Amino acid sequence: MLAIEGLTVRYGKGTAPALRELSLSVAAGERVALVGPSGSGKTTLFRAISGFVPAEAGRIVIAGTEIGRARGRRLRAMRRGIGVIAQQHDLVDRMRVYQNVMAGALGRWSTLHALRFLLWPRHVELEEARSALERVGVAEKLRARTGELSGGQQQRVAIARALVQQPVVMLADEPIASLDPDLSQHILSLLCRVAGEARITLLCSLHQHDLAERYFDRIVRLQDGVISERESRVSQLGAVS
Ligand code: ADP
Repeated sequence: MLAIEGLTVRYGKGTAPALRELSLSVAAGERVALVGPSGSGKTTLFRAISGFVPAEAGRIVIAGTEIGRARGRRLRAMRRGIGVIAQQHDLVDRMRVYQNVMAGALGRWSTLHALRFLLWPRHVELEEARSALERVGVAEKLRARTGELSGGQQQRVAIARALVQQPVVMLADEPIASLDPDLSQHILSLLCRVAGEARITLLCSLHQHDLAERYFDRIVRLQDGVISERESRVSQLGAVS
């Protein structure tokens, strides 16, 4: 599903590369934890996969399409296929939860459709939001103001928004960085479960090796822009075939 071959990324001429000839293949539905110290290149890898930083060398192929070569409609379709869950969720606090969740549908809606939704959401759209929220356990918050939710609930809403996008790949950059340890486990377990159910390929950066071992199918360790270690395992959540 995701194939990265010899990827080198550099932020400026004459600077050391942030990623150096990195190669990684991730199967459909596989859940991979990226661990490594600060500055090892995890965020850069996510940016490169999302197409926000160009590759100096190498290539990234998602579901058969090479990033960097896609243009126009194809590029938009490709971006739509990548769901991103940020460290500090990037929801709009003053909006209702369903509005934030359905932001995940913007890639398949016209501007007019999006404006109409903000003013007069249709029953079918609210049901889609409710169904995504059900999958992450906060359906009762459908109409709540997003800013009134706890940190853990907001991270669940961010996962629901990514699900509405119907992605083939989900990138979670330190999704539990601002949560306490108990909540962190719940959110990681949820993220891995929903990705597994929908056979979404999940790449998630983490600091905690113990949590990576508990919830993911595979652990990849980054150090100075290269993969220093690959571990294969079957997580407690069950094998992904
Ligand atoms: P991580 O996510 O593992 O903490 P990053 O991908 O953020 O690592 O950083 C990898 C390297 O790239 C670091 O040396 C960092 O200083 C550098 N870097 C990251 N972002 C930028 C940027 N926008 N401009 C210049 N250098 C950057």
